[in-house]
Amino acid sequence: MPVDPLDYFDAFSRLQAEERELRETVRQFVKETFLSNVAAWWQEGRFPIALIPRLGEMGLLGADLPQAYGASEVGPVSYGIIMEALEWADSGLRSFASVQGGLVMHAIYEFGSQEQKRTWLPQLAAGKKVGCFGLTEPDAGSDPNAMRTTARRSGTGWVLDGNKLWITNAPIADLAVVWAKDEQGRINGFLVEADAAGLTREEIPRKASMRCSVTGALHFQEVFVDEDHHLPLAHSLRAPLTCLDSARYGIVWGSIGAAEACLQEALEYAKQRITFGRPIAARQLIQERLVTMASYLGEMRLTALQLGRLKEAGRLDPAQISLAKRNNARKALEIARMARSILAANGITLDYQAIRHMLNLETVDTYEGTYDVHTLIAGQALTGSSAFS
Ligand SMILES: Cc1cc2nc3c(=O)[nH]c(=O)nc-3n(C[C@H](O)[C@H](O)[C@H](O)COP(=O)(O)OP(=O)(O)OC[C@H]3O[C@@H](n4cnc5c(N)ncnc54)[C@H](O)[C@@H]3O)c2cc1C
Repeated sequence: MPVDPLDYFDAFSRLQAEERELRETVRQFVKETFLSNVAAWWQEGRFPIALIPRLGEMGLLGADLPQAYGASEVGPVSYGIIMEALEWADSGLRSFASVQGGLVMHAIYEFGSQEQKRTWLPQLAAGKKVGCFGLTEPDAGSDPNAMRTTARRSGTGWVLDGNKLWITNAPIADLAVVWAKDEQGRINGFLVEADAAGLTREEIPRKASMRCSVTGALHFQEVFVDEDHHLPLAHSLRAPLTCLDSARYGIVWGSIGAAEACLQEALEYAKQRITFGRPIAARQLIQERLVTMASYLGEMRLTALQLGRLKEAGRLDPAQISLAKRNNARKALEIARMARSILAANGITLDYQAIRHMLNLETVDTYEGTYDVHTLIAGQALTGSSAFS
């Protein structure tokens, strides 16, 4: 049987029947609702918010959480397959689902009260409410412990002051999960509703990456949050980092989708593009790039699948997620750059996918821990020595 260039090592055959079926279903949904318009949305710099309830109806938001909270309760590999299928269309679409599920719903599920879970999770799973996750600040990205946002006790609740920056969905969110330091310097989590007095927000304009995703800032000036909006089980930086592990796992899978779309486009283009009387696909230099792309993609798939099986067995370590996020995000970016170069001049237009994926993947390589930060995490796991500071 000839090799499948998009699945060189036949990782697909190691999926279970329902996992394969899910892959087809989500891809079909994405094709019908998203793919034909994504270049225009990306150019306009907007996310199609009308699609959010459809994502909920399809069971794609927080899909790994329990059915008791309105979610789909799929296993880790199926969750990854959903992320892959969404990012096959655009990293912005996968980012929306990652933030809503991996960050916001996970924060409430892991660290919230029963009441908070019952109130928010079904609405977020259905796409009736949109969430955002505010950890990063103007002067605290890779080092979130340097955050300046404060939470001081006051009467029956807390008062928040500070600023969050680079927050996906912030301008369209109904609910923000916000991380702030209390008077003892401990990191606490809060559920802040969009209409809270003293909360203002704005969109970050002029992005050249992740344009089909809304990114913004949140400003808190004496924002009162009642105790029932305080996450009772979050007591330290460990809490947001746990949520990040869940979202990073989604990136390990999602980046495969973007990379696959780029390889497929480059292969098709190379076979039909004639220079000097022959298709460029028949040239050694072009084949070298295509083979490198197929090799990276094959390795990315096997890595993601192995992570999924480890997660199913309850044996997945955060350091393994870090190394895989570092590898898959960077390899996807390299694949997209190679695809763009094979398409040459045509590759710089939004009529093709490569440059859109390439520019998006610059963010994927940066957020949820940069390539460097994951190098340091994996380096510490390897050597036992921290090289962070
Ligand atoms: C489109 C987009 C969406 C985002 N969405 C969210 C969101 O929803 N919620 C949220 O909280 N955040 C979000 N982020 C923020 C993102 O997680 C941060 O940008 C990221 O963690 C990096 O932080 P920074 O940009 O402040 O870079 P810095 O921390 O300032 O890093 C600058 C450079 O220094 C390197 N570096 C840092 N520390 C070290 C070190 N110790 N040793 C060696 N090198 C180091 C970094 O790798 C990087 O190259 C988003 C970002 C983008 C671009």
